[in-house]
Amino acid sequence: MLDFSFTEEQDLFREAIREWLAKNLPMERVRENDTNHELPKDIIKGLGDLGLLCMTLPEEHGGVGADWVTTTIAAEELGYADISVALPVFFLVQASWGFVVDKYCTDVVRDECLRKAAKGESFIGIGVTEPGGGSDVAGFKTNLTKGDGHWVLNGEKTYISGTAECKEIGGGYFVTGYNDRSAGHRGMTAVYLPLNLEGVEITKRFDNYGRMAISTGGFKMTDVKVPDEYQIGDTNRGFYLTMEGFDAARVLVSASCVGAAERAMEIGMEYIKERKAFGQELAKYQGIQFDLADMAAHHEAIKTLVYKTAWMMDQKYQHETFTPLEVSKYLSMVKYLAPHHALDVFRRTMLWMGAYGYTKECPLEMGIRGVMSYCIGAEGAANIQKIVIARETLGRDWTRTR
Ligand SMILES: Cc1cc2nc3c(=O)[nH]c(=O)nc-3n(C[C@H](O)[C@H](O)[C@H](O)COP(=O)(O)OP(=O)(O)OC[C@H]3O[C@@H](n4cnc5c(N)ncnc54)[C@H](O)[C@@H]3O)c2cc1C
Repeated sequence: MLDFSFTEEQDLFREAIREWLAKNLPMERVRENDTNHELPKDIIKGLGDLGLLCMTLPEEHGGVGADWVTTTIAAEELGYADISVALPVFFLVQASWGFVVDKYCTDVVRDECLRKAAKGESFIGIGVTEPGGGSDVAGFKTNLTKGDGHWVLNGEKTYISGTAECKEIGGGYFVTGYNDRSAGHRGMTAVYLPLNLEGVEITKRFDNYGRMAISTGGFKMTDVKVPDEYQIGDTNRGFYLTMEGFDAARVLVSASCVGAAERAMEIGMEYIKERKAFGQELAKYQGIQFDLADMAAHHEAIKTLVYKTAWMMDQKYQHETFTPLEVSKYLSMVKYLAPHHALDVFRRTMLWMGAYGYTKECPLEMGIRGVMSYCIGAEGAANIQKIVIARETLGRDWTRTR
């Protein structure tokens, strides 16, 4: 049976989030956060109270055991409310990477970080990218050396979301490095790295182009002793867990871009129904209508694919009816399409607004700056998505690069 409807609970859930965000995070507040470079504490607490933070974790671990379709609804609504995508980043990094950490970590990590993160009293992020590059995960320089009851970490991570917030509220990062370089990507191990461990030094906060309300920073690890209880998954599985985390994040990134694009179209439509040129409303010109039709058609196609992909995630995790690689192909498709679509919608609706669109009185520029981060690379660069799509479509024998 093919059924495209959401459940009644999911419809009510969407309504409840939209209502809460409309009341607590109107566009003026999104602008304020963007200007002040800060996510207000009441909003973070509100997300925790609503059960949205780390919602993918099972109830017994502090989450609400949400499935991926429901979590995707939340990501879409957060993107709709905060078109700068700062709050969606705070949400989705934890819903996705927190999910993977929880799946493979010890109770120590759950108690020290994840349960608190679900209440907004801690932060769990992803610390993969290094100064030498982010796409080539197997090319990383970070090393883990086995000690007695701990790993010793040396290396540096950069362009990492939420470092300032994590420093402030506590928590840490999923970090991978090599424990056995001779084994290639099969010689990597993942750990939970609290930012307050001795030997961890926050290097900087970048002056970003967009999503200003959440920080992007970096940290150095110098002879950091990470207790064995902080290891995530088995030794040598770090690369694979990293790929699983990227996959989980990609559907939520895509949904937040779809939400932001939907809001941009609404803002644009409101404007063209009011604004007159040559004696009639802009909305009455077919030149404008065709532009809208093009955006609306692409929007529906991409949104449908995003939810199909979320549904496939649920099938993968709950029934194993799809292999992880089958789902990865779709995740890369939506991660490739949705941010570029959102960027296109922001650019085109901004053009409808003439000079007003080019000012900060108009919210759309926050959206351009925000979704661009997902076109550039956060949770995987565009060409890397194409590599995955080509590999899973054409076959590995044709797409091996080395
Ligand atoms: C705002 C922001 C927040 C981020 N937050 C995090 C975070 O929380 N945690 C984290 O670990 N990382 C984070 N990142 C980093 C992100 O994961 C990387 O930007 C991404 O993986 C790409 O790595 P890179 O920037 O080093 O680009 P590179 O890997 O150097 O790639 C540069 C360009 O080359 C292209 N390219 C690379 N390899 C190939 C190839 N084989 N064929 C064709 N083209 C190729 C890429 O598509 C890209 O356009 C963030 C990035 C941004 C912008």
